[in-house]
Amino acid sequence: MFNQYEIGDEVVKALADMGYSQPTEVQEQTIEKILAGKDLIVNAKTGSGKTAAFGVPLIEKISKGEKNPRALVMTPTRELAIQVAKELSAIGKYKKLKSYTVYGQHNIDVEIGELKKGVDLIIGTPGRLLDHLKRGTLNPQAIKYVVLDEADRMLDMGFIDQVSDILKQLPKQRDTYLFSATMPFEVRSIAWEYMQEPDTVEISSDTMTVDLIEQQYIRSERHKKRVYLDRFLAIEKPNACIVFCNTRRCVDMVVDFLKQNKYSVEALHGAISQARRTKTIERFKKAQFHILVATDVAARGLHIDNLDLVINYDVPLDNDNYVHRVGRTGRAGNGGKAISLVTGEDLMTLYEIEEHIGVLIKEVDPPSYAAAHHQKKPKGGKKQTQQNKANTEASWPKFEEEKLLKTKVLRGSARKDSSSHQEIKVDTSKSKLNDTVTKTVLEQNDSNKMSAAKTAEIIANYKNKPVKQSFWQKLKAKLFK
Ligand code: ADP
Ligand code: MG
Repeated sequence: MFNQYEIGDEVVKALADMGYSQPTEVQEQTIEKILAGKDLIVNAKTGSGKTAAFGVPLIEKISKGEKNPRALVMTPTRELAIQVAKELSAIGKYKKLKSYTVYGQHNIDVEIGELKKGVDLIIGTPGRLLDHLKRGTLNPQAIKYVVLDEADRMLDMGFIDQVSDILKQLPKQRDTYLFSATMPFEVRSIAWEYMQEPDTVEISSDTMTVDLIEQQYIRSERHKKRVYLDRFLAIEKPNACIVFCNTRRCVDMVVDFLKQNKYSVEALHGAISQARRTKTIERFKKAQFHILVATDVAARGLHIDNLDLVINYDVPLDNDNYVHRVGRTGRAGNGGKAISLVTGEDLMTLYEIEEHIGVLIKEVDPPSYAAAHHQKKPKGGKKQTQQNKANTEASWPKFEEEKLLKTKVLRGSARKDSSSHQEIKVDTSKSKLNDTVTKTVLEQNDSNKMSAAKTAEIIANYKNKPVKQSFWQKLKAKLFK
């Protein structure tokens, strides 16, 4: 129960309205710590309820009556910013706190106008937040609480400089909370530089997200992927399905292909205008079309209820992205299904994913032409309600593989994404850096598996020792040059 915490009736009531009766595990471990006023690093997987984990205590701590924002939340994408703002507004409903979102592609004059009127919590993407700070349209003086949401993704997207620039401009007397599913090097370096003796919360991310989900993969040559995708869709007839690609180009290609084949399908990636993306997400949530084809970044953190199928058209290049993708389905204990299309080149990546999630993904035979055709006349086995049947059958295209097999196959869509993790090498033999620090950093550097606790420990051990800090800076300069 939320009333176990020192939180006022207004927040408790708002949570009840939202249907939150029990705190999730991460909320249980985080709310009191934030109420107590400590910097905090939180490691927890997507979907664990991190927004309310910081939202509840922040809304509790903030009171109305000041013009400039008291809390600032940075998120990697506009979609997430909007989602976070929505949740914070809901939690702050009875306290009448105003949450406001700023992000690129949004009209900046409108934003400036709203900021002038006064906001209590500001949520935004790093670029736009920095823009407002530079223009002087966001006054940071009253900011006491800072949240870095999805920090790993934010830094992975190349926002490290902006994030640092923002943090530098905020009042020193503040609490900083860093939420991240993983703790790669850049995240730790931000924690190192901008946090004060952080406490940690770690929710083991073992196989919980994905072990309720039926996971399969098929082996496919690259040029056959689209044929198999088509067959899977014909067989599974999902009501809501996300197809993941590694690149925008691939998303566009798959969408064109599925449209040609008369599927109800939309694209979601970073090059599509914000307005359209928001609309697409809303329409998908309302089940106005069946298939969303998306990149990881665009789909990160989106919560779609009743998603019954995830297809990895490309194998994700980052293990955690597999969990993020597959974790979209089967939420709240509903079974879901995930299918990956794996080329010879991808096989090693798949093995690494299996190792990462601690589950063997079952190889199945590619769907046959006959199987896809059979589905046109459903056999007695599967029961469907009349309504469901009407819904699915009316809106699903006729299966036209003959035509498909004649269409020209586009190749070369699976370009490696340059933003994925790269190995950072430091030549220790030539380094004049302090050995202990170098060794510690190097030991930890290659693994995203380093824990929040370890990060906090390194910060505690080295941060306040000036000599070592300068070593750190040299090392950092080297690593990030
Ligand atoms: P994360 O940021 O960890 O990915 P979110 O904060 O977006 O997760 O929450 C995931 C989903 O769980 C959302 O749909 C949210 O509304 C829901 N949720 C969060 N906390 C609770 C709770 N205490 N009770 C019920 N549902 C919750
Ligand atoms: Mg989140």
